[in-house]
Amino acid sequence: MSSVQNLEVYNDKSKRSARRERDLELLPTNSTRYRVVESVILLGLRILESPQGKNSLIRIATEVVQQRDFPPGDRPPVPHIYNRPLAEMPRWVDFFFGRLRSNFPVVLLCDIAGEASATKKDWGTDMSQYDPQEASHFEFNKTIINNMIYVRHQPPNVTGDNYNCFKFQMAITIAHEIVHLLTGFLTGTARPYTPPGVSLGNYGNRNMGESGRYWESILLGGVVEFFEDGNDPLQERQAGRPYLIEDSRNNVPAQLVSTTYINNFLNGHFSFPILTSSRAAPTTRNELRRISREMTDVRERSGRRARAAPAYESPAPEASSSVSYRRLPPTHHSYSGSYSTYYAQGNGEPSDSHAGAYGSNYGSSHNSGYENSGYEDSGYGNSGYENSYGDNSSGYGYHR
Ligand SMILES: [Zn+2]
Repeated sequence: MSSVQNLEVYNDKSKRSARRERDLELLPTNSTRYRVVESVILLGLRILESPQGKNSLIRIATEVVQQRDFPPGDRPPVPHIYNRPLAEMPRWVDFFFGRLRSNFPVVLLCDIAGEASATKKDWGTDMSQYDPQEASHFEFNKTIINNMIYVRHQPPNVTGDNYNCFKFQMAITIAHEIVHLLTGFLTGTARPYTPPGVSLGNYGNRNMGESGRYWESILLGGVVEFFEDGNDPLQERQAGRPYLIEDSRNNVPAQLVSTTYINNFLNGHFSFPILTSSRAAPTTRNELRRISREMTDVRERSGRRARAAPAYESPAPEASSSVSYRRLPPTHHSYSGSYSTYYAQGNGEPSDSHAGAYGSNYGSSHNSGYENSGYEDSGYGNSGYENSYGDNSSGYGYHR
């Protein structure tokens, strides 16, 4: 199938500082932005619906259910709503995609820090009644979508591989966020506990997993991060150079992704794991950071310069929903205060790695830990949330 039904894309014209009052504009289905958004969603779905993609999801869904039934140690079982034989999982994964294809969650183009995020809601207890539009919505980074349109209108020698790299990046990000929706589908809740076994390196912790990063590791062979190319004439509007990095640690191998691989990928010829360039020398995240900047950071800094608003006010937390961002710029202090307030009020607990980002970043005492490790979950173990089950949950969290 090559379409998504009932896709609505809104442009959020409000500034970050005014996110409490969204100013939403429904984009016509024949607009360029709508079509760009639709194309990256379709590519993200095709990744997951490829034979290898589907197998990766069946594996994750099965592990989530099994590990909730039999958590490690002497923990009690954690509820879920999958009350069928595990052998039926392939059929339910198909069912999940059928629903996504027929009623895709609303997409808001927003001024957000990461590339995209999924907000999950408590939606029910009967899997056969799953409606993705009721259970979730997406936010896409509108600077990236705007940059995609901008680069496409440049002469070919300026555009280079930028459009393809953006599309590659967004499709992977959307697939990652859909993995989180799958966890919500199996649990009915905005705060699905992801077992610690369903994770990758530092992205999870000993109590809570990170299913999106786990998915990247088992299908893609690592995580893809984009670093600024100082020679790219597009400067801060560039996509950056994509590196496949083994896991969350800074000293593990990082390799430039093959351009041929990306081109095949965009044409729907998927093969996994991701293939890297044989010509580029292997490096590490540490080394890349020493000579370059992550593109999330480049965009964040340029956006900060462009925004007149002095400070970010967090959106009002909703107890019944949770947000997960795939990526977080390396420094993110302007957000700290409001989240600190949020946790202090007890409106939510960081319970998974998304929240973990703030677990390590919401107070000044944690900021340095975050900067040093660059990972969302640093400092999490000290934050006293061990008993909370609520995966990807706790309200607002950014994760990488
Ligand atoms: Zn995630």
